[in-house]
Amino acid sequence: MPDTEKTAPSNFIRAIIEDDLASHKWSGRMATRFPPEPNGYLHYGHAKSICLNFGLARDYGGICHLRFDDTNPEKEEQEYVDAIIDAVRWLGFDWHEHLYFASDYFDRLYEFAKYLIAHGWAYVDSQTADEMRERRGSHIEPGEDSPYRNRSVDENLDLFRRMKAGEFADGVHVLRARIDMASPNFNLRDPVIYRIRHAEHHRTGNKWCIYPLYDYTHCISDALERISHSICTLEFEDHRPLYDWILDRLQPVIGWHPQQIEFARLNLTYVVLSKRKLIGLVEQGYVDGWDDPRLPTLIGARRRGYTAAGFRLFTDRIGVAKADSWIDMSVLEECMREDLNLVAERRIAVLNPVRLIIDNYPADRDELCHAPNHPLKHELGTRDVVLTRELWIERDDYMESPSKGYFRLFPGNRVRLRYAYVVECTGAEYDEHGGLIAVHCNYLPDTKSGTPGSDSVKAKGNIHWLSTTHAADAEVRLYDRLFNVPHPGADGRDYLLDLNPDSRQIISARIEPALMQAAAEQNFQFERHGYFVADRVDSRPDKPVFNRTVGLKDTWVKSA
Ligand code: ATP
Ligand code: MG
Repeated sequence: MPDTEKTAPSNFIRAIIEDDLASHKWSGRMATRFPPEPNGYLHYGHAKSICLNFGLARDYGGICHLRFDDTNPEKEEQEYVDAIIDAVRWLGFDWHEHLYFASDYFDRLYEFAKYLIAHGWAYVDSQTADEMRERRGSHIEPGEDSPYRNRSVDENLDLFRRMKAGEFADGVHVLRARIDMASPNFNLRDPVIYRIRHAEHHRTGNKWCIYPLYDYTHCISDALERISHSICTLEFEDHRPLYDWILDRLQPVIGWHPQQIEFARLNLTYVVLSKRKLIGLVEQGYVDGWDDPRLPTLIGARRRGYTAAGFRLFTDRIGVAKADSWIDMSVLEECMREDLNLVAERRIAVLNPVRLIIDNYPADRDELCHAPNHPLKHELGTRDVVLTRELWIERDDYMESPSKGYFRLFPGNRVRLRYAYVVECTGAEYDEHGGLIAVHCNYLPDTKSGTPGSDSVKAKGNIHWLSTTHAADAEVRLYDRLFNVPHPGADGRDYLLDLNPDSRQIISARIEPALMQAAAEQNFQFERHGYFVADRVDSRPDKPVFNRTVGLKDTWVKSA
């Protein structure tokens, strides 16, 4: 972790932890966990949870476990496990030896279920799913007890053992916690804790045909790992009584009962974070895959050039709250800019080139100019850029009839070519359709940057350029926001209708030769354009590809 990282501001979770450490509540232990289900790729919302859990452990001298909640045999795959591991590492965190899988606890979870049965706290229900639903009650009416609720302990133990032995088909029986069918909290109306599923599991193979449900597994996994603070998102608030009920019952056999603490999940404008919607975008081909730079996945973010430090800064900046709210995308983008401004070296690229010809400059001269690699970090030195008679400049750095406040090239005006001379524009050439072919100018020999008296001639405009004989070509992918509106799919509208049709534009740009050596994932600021990254999948030394990460300023102020 870079030493520039500041300690995060305080919040209600930090206050709880500080109190607990002061009162020695968990025997001085401080352990959190990040518990993803390996059924998809992690997104920006998960980054908040990861930075929060691992960040707290880091700041309080504790540990954070990475635990896969892999109780659902059908949906989980090794591919997701690997991708999640990569993403958490990329964010800069380390779980050391504390990598766990809920499936490693299947034997113990089974034993604990027998313990609950033996104490009359769980029973085998043999109603159909429909019957169970009918008896569930409603918000105003209590549920009804199952006709199987009063089975004897022996009968329950026998049936549960036979469920495990594979004697029954899927759905014939379930194991339910015996709590209260009249509870106002639905989670306490005898929740199902085990179901029969004849399906192969990615880690336990065919050993099991009964699988524990999330609420049952999660609290026990936390307790077995001696987690102190089990931090989760607000939708689990109503599950907390069940979390506590199960661990209270198992106290004599486990002897550890973490505190569940809920915080508001990240809701971010201009993206969708629901797994279902992300899958829709990938499967229907609206993006190029899970790592498409426009997708709010962490592998997409990485490919786009977002940085791990930017995500950590973002998490600290937005803080944690107990009530849901929306964070504007510009906050995340600004955090990325702040980090990139510090770490990204400057380079020159001309994205929309047109020729600039310096008519009074010798055709055979190659003149070295020195461009600083980073304006704030002089230790990063300078690099040479070669000035020649013919240059590439941006097409919009010339205007035949300048609008008000336009200080760049127009006939009669002077501008500085960055790191080189002041030039005076003399006019332009057009083709027969009126298309701009080349801009002409003369240079003022005594004005070279870095030489004494070079600033005696004033020029308001300051433009970047590349020599036409030395510049190289690169593919540049200009990414923008994936959706056009802050709340895609709001009010029941199809979220696909809100896609931004201009979220990616692929262009061929001119780049300075130093950029040919860009390593995959190296971040740069292209002067006057924004932050770019060498694409980690497609960029090659002989054929570089750059992705636009984010512009220099927030320009997302579009007229409707
Ligand atoms: P699912 O609907 O499949 O459960 P999920 O997004 O909750 O999807 P999990 O793998 O269960 O995915 O999430 C792992 C952890 O990340 C959980 O602790 C969850 O609370 C947290 N998390 C998920 N989405 C967000 C979010 N938007 N903001 C903060 N934390 C989140
Ligand atoms: Mg979840």
